[in-house]
Amino acid sequence: MKRWLSPKLQLSLGLVSLTVSLILVAASLGLLPNEERAELEQRGVTATALAVQLAVLASRNDTAAIKDTIDVVVSRNPAILSIAIRDAHGNILAGSDRHLTHWRELPDGKSTATHIQVPLFNDDTPAGRIEIAFRPLTSGANPLDLGPALFAFVGFMAVTGFAGFYLVLGRALRELDPSRTIPKRIEAAFDTLAEGVLIIDDDERVLLANRAFKHNVLTGGELELGSPASGLPWLSSVAAPVAPSDLPWRVALEHEHPVLGAELSIRDAGGGMHRLVVNATRILDGSGTARGAIVTFTDVTALHETNMRLSASVEELRKAQRHISDQNLELQYLASRDPLTGCLNRRTFFEQAEALLTEAIRTRRPFVFMMVDADHFKRINDRFGHAFGDKVLVGLSDQLQTFCGAPHLVGRYGGEEFCVALIGLSKTSAEHVAEQVRRSVSNVGTWLPGSERVTVSIGLAPLDDPRDKLLDLVNRADKALYAAKTEGRNRVVVERTKDAAPTSTVARAASRAGWRCDP
Ligand code: GH3
Ligand code: MG
Ligand code: MG
Repeated sequence: MKRWLSPKLQLSLGLVSLTVSLILVAASLGLLPNEERAELEQRGVTATALAVQLAVLASRNDTAAIKDTIDVVVSRNPAILSIAIRDAHGNILAGSDRHLTHWRELPDGKSTATHIQVPLFNDDTPAGRIEIAFRPLTSGANPLDLGPALFAFVGFMAVTGFAGFYLVLGRALRELDPSRTIPKRIEAAFDTLAEGVLIIDDDERVLLANRAFKHNVLTGGELELGSPASGLPWLSSVAAPVAPSDLPWRVALEHEHPVLGAELSIRDAGGGMHRLVVNATRILDGSGTARGAIVTFTDVTALHETNMRLSASVEELRKAQRHISDQNLELQYLASRDPLTGCLNRRTFFEQAEALLTEAIRTRRPFVFMMVDADHFKRINDRFGHAFGDKVLVGLSDQLQTFCGAPHLVGRYGGEEFCVALIGLSKTSAEHVAEQVRRSVSNVGTWLPGSERVTVSIGLAPLDDPRDKLLDLVNRADKALYAAKTEGRNRVVVERTKDAAPTSTVARAASRAGWRCDP
């Protein structure tokens, strides 16, 4: 808690009181120049000179000259009210008007400050006196009765003395205050620390800056003891200017709690940025009053740079991981696809079709297996070349994808043969879809450039027994396809008998794929 009057103010007021007292004592001892005394002395001199002059005129009995002299002196001297000459019998020989009004008889015949009488002699015989009535003195004769000059003098001394004492004492107290001076051995102890340390007073003035602070934080810059710590060009952790009220030691002093882990930056002479972690804690005196703060600075520039490099490496690693993961997906995709047409290859098709069949049996959903074979494809190759044949295969695959997209599956069975698993379609719907495919493929000039006509034959085998295996369906669809071929091609045939033996084409293909064809 702050005292009502600071020591500096108390001492200044004490010294001003002492100065004023000394002036008053000096005045009471008459050691100061006194206006009244000077005025009294002046009155004495005036009275003596006038007495000599009037005595001469009186000795000549020149009453008119005496009267003129008196009038001139009274009119020219504002301190004089009246003058008169009396003879030894008390009669006024000559005098200014209204002298009797201004004059009063003095009891013991002596003069006062306002009434001065000068005796006149005629050959040692008293011949009368000259009476001079003065205006009252500007103040009483008491030396302590301050005249305006003395009052102004004392006032001037009090005001200017206070200002002077206040400034000088401020400086002196700062220099001499033991609480604001760090002993050398303490300074030496702080110099051994690797952390930068500042000790500041409650006005934020620097009392101590240890060696590490000068070396790591100032890096050659100047910091005068007694200057404010906020005077340095502090920056935030992102190199933005920092408001003085946000500096950690200001926050600690104002909000009365330590500030830990604050981040500041400062540029060194070469323009390099130093990043600092700052802790600030108040220093309390015995009564719990904050007398300042101790502030520590840890240079984390190197750590920060390492972290930045590490973050960059981690980011690079993440990018590489994403790239590898993308490549894996790509590989996975390629491994599951037929490279020419992009539809599923046979291995993947059968893996997925097996799972779909199991699910269809479990959920009692319809499942139809479809085999598609290009008619007289050999002739197409022979007539237009293998590359054209490839284009036809790609086009056929696209046609199948168009009519049998998800949730159905399209795969290349081998050569110019495709297989399709139709999910959730009844036998009639499947036959309808197959018919759409057949008709669309056979349309000249739609999916294949030029006027060539390509047709397909299609065999269908619907799931009608939950004990059916996928190969059963393949065999039955293949038989239906065989029937379509033998019946003239470019047609769709739904299987007619379940117990026919598998055709040699499918049997061979299935055994190549590692499938066993049960009769
Ligand atoms: P069918 O109407 O009875 O099915 O007669 P087809 O000529 O279509 O049947 P075949 O089995 O006699 O001939 C199939 C041809 O398909 C033989 C082969 O050269 C060709 N072929 C197989 N794979 C490819 C391929 O990837 N590209 C091309 N261009 N031709 C292929
Ligand atoms: Mg064919
Ligand atoms: Mg074939």
